[in-house]
Amino acid sequence: MNDQRVGNLKVLSERECRECGEPFLPKPGGYNARYCTNTCKLRRKRAVLKSTKPEQLRNARVRSYNQTKKHPERMAAHRAGCRNYRARAREWLAQYKLKHGCVDCGYSDHYAALQLDHEGEKSVEIADARSSIARLEAEIERGECVVRCANCHSIKTWERKQESRR
Ligand SMILES: [Zn+2]
Ligand SMILES: [Zn+2]
Repeated sequence: MNDQRVGNLKVLSERECRECGEPFLPKPGGYNARYCTNTCKLRRKRAVLKSTKPEQLRNARVRSYNQTKKHPERMAAHRAGCRNYRARAREWLAQYKLKHGCVDCGYSDHYAALQLDHEGEKSVEIADARSSIARLEAEIERGECVVRCANCHSIKTWERKQESRR
């Protein structure tokens, strides 16, 4: 027989991670292993918790933040993380605008002159969603946002006002 063994445990063949879909080799004896890494396992757990008990996840975050607040060095790291996160979101939005360009005139030279415009229902101001890529994506989808240059945006806003006056 060419069944490989470690001690008296059979070496298992490759299987797919249930979270990321990547093939992985379970550890000897890991017959019920479903995830490639602990990271994938925890990610799954979080996702399940988020849909079944969101308040539990929220409370855990509040507790953890309260602990962080007690330690200046942890707080400094937390703030640096926030800054980094906001910078990433800013960069993501800039690239998103440049990639799409103005829907009306096609302008795409500089992101500072490009704005997100809600075609659908506005649930948050883009300015408030700007600190998180996930929030930005959600608002773009939900609010049917399009990219408009500052000029076309001004004209569109004027047109909308004219229409609502009628
Ligand atoms: Zn995985
Ligand atoms: Zn334009």
